[in-house]
Amino acid sequence: MPALTKHPSKEAVEEILSTTPTSKEYFLLRDAVLEWKLELFKDHYKSWRLKTHNEKMTGLFMLCDIVSHSCGKHLNMYEGSKYAYFPTHGEIMFGQNPSIISTLHELAHFLGIQSEIQAVHISLSIFKELYPKSFEKLEFDKNTHILKSK
Ligand SMILES: [Zn+2]
Repeated sequence: MPALTKHPSKEAVEEILSTTPTSKEYFLLRDAVLEWKLELFKDHYKSWRLKTHNEKMTGLFMLCDIVSHSCGKHLNMYEGSKYAYFPTHGEIMFGQNPSIISTLHELAHFLGIQSEIQAVHISLSIFKELYPKSFEKLEFDKNTHILKSK
């Protein structure tokens, strides 16, 4: 698989976002995020932006637990240098910048989505629908080909 295609171009991302995914992985992940938003709200409501690094990490681990629970597959999580999913170990490594989009992306891989563009489609569609205001603030990074907040 050519390394250059790892992150889709801005045009490719815009094109896929004009449609909504229909896969079961998308619906499972979307339901998990809805449940997670309610859990976070019950806990102690604080907007994502104001949470500390540890609160964000704990929150994202909680989201992973919900997903792992709903698909009945064990998942290990740990902090590392960057976001990645290791299928042989069923592990998600978190980067130092706690990110909902990146976590959703790796969770899509965990659910069995192997295609990079499909993982991007699922993660960004969910984020766009459930965090519309934050989605509006995303910018395309020309170097990493990733949408990130300004
Ligand atoms: Zn990926």
